[in-house]
Amino acid sequence: MKLPFAESFKIKMVEPIRKSTREERIGWIKDAKYNLFNLRSDQVFIDLLTDSGTGAMSDRQWAAMMIGDESYAGASSYFKMKNAIKSILGFEYFLPTHQGRAAENVLFSVLVKEGNLVPGNSHFDTTKGHIEFRKAKAIDCTIDEAFDTTVLHPFKGNVDLNKLETVLKNNPKEKIPFIIVTVTCNSSGGQPVSMNNLKEVSAMAKKYGIPVIFDAARFAENAYFIKLREKGYENKTIKEIVAEMFSYADAMTMSAKKDAIVNMGGFIAMRDKELFRQASVFNIMFEGYITYGGMSGRDMNALAQGLDEGTEFDYLETRIKQVEYLGEKIKSYGVPLQEPFGGHAIFVDAKKFLSHIPKEEFQAQTLGIELYIEGGVRSVEIGAILADRDPITRVNRYPALELLRLAIPRRVYTNNHMDYIAASLGNVYERRLEIRHGFAIKYEAPIMRHFTVEMEKV
Ligand SMILES: *Cc1c(COP(=O)(O)O)cnc(C)c1O
Repeated sequence: MKLPFAESFKIKMVEPIRKSTREERIGWIKDAKYNLFNLRSDQVFIDLLTDSGTGAMSDRQWAAMMIGDESYAGASSYFKMKNAIKSILGFEYFLPTHQGRAAENVLFSVLVKEGNLVPGNSHFDTTKGHIEFRKAKAIDCTIDEAFDTTVLHPFKGNVDLNKLETVLKNNPKEKIPFIIVTVTCNSSGGQPVSMNNLKEVSAMAKKYGIPVIFDAARFAENAYFIKLREKGYENKTIKEIVAEMFSYADAMTMSAKKDAIVNMGGFIAMRDKELFRQASVFNIMFEGYITYGGMSGRDMNALAQGLDEGTEFDYLETRIKQVEYLGEKIKSYGVPLQEPFGGHAIFVDAKKFLSHIPKEEFQAQTLGIELYIEGGVRSVEIGAILADRDPITRVNRYPALELLRLAIPRRVYTNNHMDYIAASLGNVYERRLEIRHGFAIKYEAPIMRHFTVEMEKV
């Protein structure tokens, strides 16, 4: 018989997690002001809030940590990271930062000015935040297919070249500091961008003389999808695909907490020495000296090792097959999902799931709270709360998609956990019509409100 799929790792260390009762959870989520970020981790049984920094490091990464070099300047750990970035991603220059948004802060301090326009494919929330904070505007040029959860398109993260060219044609070059391509596209559901699209964006950018920056948090998962779905790449290694992907970028920002499988860390990488010099000034000011930039030597070692492991096919296959396993299981209960499934998470279409709740009562947030009460599973809203208010009119923005994200930490949970998550969501789906009301905002911060929002039942 055909042998079934099995994980490409075995488990060497475990961490107990705590179950709770429904009554406990009802009290805890109320005390948390109905914001899942406010829960203590021991009030959560399975934590799918994010796949960011929540992965399990390998024995090799832990071994690398033991030989971290904590020298302030010129540490060997810095050079390990530099070598990994050069050999895997192909960039000559880089700056370590403490995480992805710090990379954005440093790089955008050089590049983004008031009144600028930054076209891209569904900018990530911190990316958008750093653009809008500088009174510039993020323009979403993602293909329309991305906004219909039922359309099966292999590369829903693609940039719509017509939308992009409209922006480039109708604005002076000086107003557009760069084009940003997010691989995979987090905000549209962990959806990949095709190699052909990256190539075309790069060609168009060259034509208009504008640099291309990759927001590269999940670049390896993107490469896996290219290998599986794009003609001509089926026999290439992930590392070969990654090298070609980055050949279309002038610079990149990285949240290493994703595809480099570390608990903390990030970096900026670039080809241009002058950009490196300018960014170094801000890196020293905000992050730390240019050879550690907010990271410990041991963390840089783990990151270098993680970049290598994270771009191995067996690891990626295990990871993405688990996400797919969860998706198929949930789908079998009839729950509406974003398809095809993304690389790092399953996205539930909350607009369809709770179609009887008005959008003003935040469907995805309501669903996230119900899922927590049902099974102690923590998820995250990717909907109207995250979309925030328009920075000028202050009117609530209601995005095309109202999603609940179940992000899967790397190498952390087993498929029994996936079964449990799916059953919990299936139970909520069965009783969905008993959910009569959503939630209203009681307190919100002026920017990136989702982290600290306080809500009350309508
Ligand atoms: C996580 C993420 C960021 C921000 O990185 P942090 O490490 O969380 O600061 C930026 N862009 C994308 C696409 C991300 O997924």
